[in-house]
Amino acid sequence: MFQDTATFPFRVNKDIKDRIGTDSLHRIGEHLWPVDCQSCGHPFGPEVPALVVNDLTVMAAASLHHAGCRAPSWNEGLLNVTRQDHLSYRTLAFMLPTEVDGRPDPLPTMLVNPSLEQVLLKPEASGWTVATMGHYRDYCGLTGVSVPKPVPDAYAQLHPNGLLTVTLERTVQTWEFETTPDGLRESILARRGVALGVTSAYIPGEHFVVVADFLTAMQSGQIALGWVTLRK
Ligand SMILES: [Zn+2]
Repeated sequence: MFQDTATFPFRVNKDIKDRIGTDSLHRIGEHLWPVDCQSCGHPFGPEVPALVVNDLTVMAAASLHHAGCRAPSWNEGLLNVTRQDHLSYRTLAFMLPTEVDGRPDPLPTMLVNPSLEQVLLKPEASGWTVATMGHYRDYCGLTGVSVPKPVPDAYAQLHPNGLLTVTLERTVQTWEFETTPDGLRESILARRGVALGVTSAYIPGEHFVVVADFLTAMQSGQIALGWVTLRK
């Protein structure tokens, strides 16, 4: 089997390398985080995972597996992208300092990486590129924070245990957020909604230490953003 573990953070085969290309594989590696195997659901530990690509023509899903569970492979003609029940996600909730008419007007902001072990890819002339953020922009309507134009088919809910959940019906996903930062819960109730950011380029809570990190990531197009209204 062809393997290139010295340069990629996952095992590939020749088919995958021929179709995606070395440069794109490096970029894809920056959007995958080996937490749990997408075949058995158990952690990777120090083992280098295998990359499995399910090609759906208009899009593909690349996911990480124990090499012993799945060998690196490129699969075509499948009906489902992949099973989702082993995917890990990470969230971070914070107040984003914004201004309205020169006055501080901090925004309750929820950031999520929805799938640490899986990234969506789309075909381009040069090969395949990461499409997770584009998918949430185009398919789910996360095209910018606008209170009058909230994300369609999406809602946030505050729960008595202090958690906030955000549900996107179009992708059938619900994520949990802590609402511990000062003033966050009050601000969510006052505004009747939250800003939602989706990224595959970072692990929220690990890579975002200060607000400047978030702004840098946002300006580089690595976060799909929208406004999600609160539902009782
Ligand atoms: Zn496994």
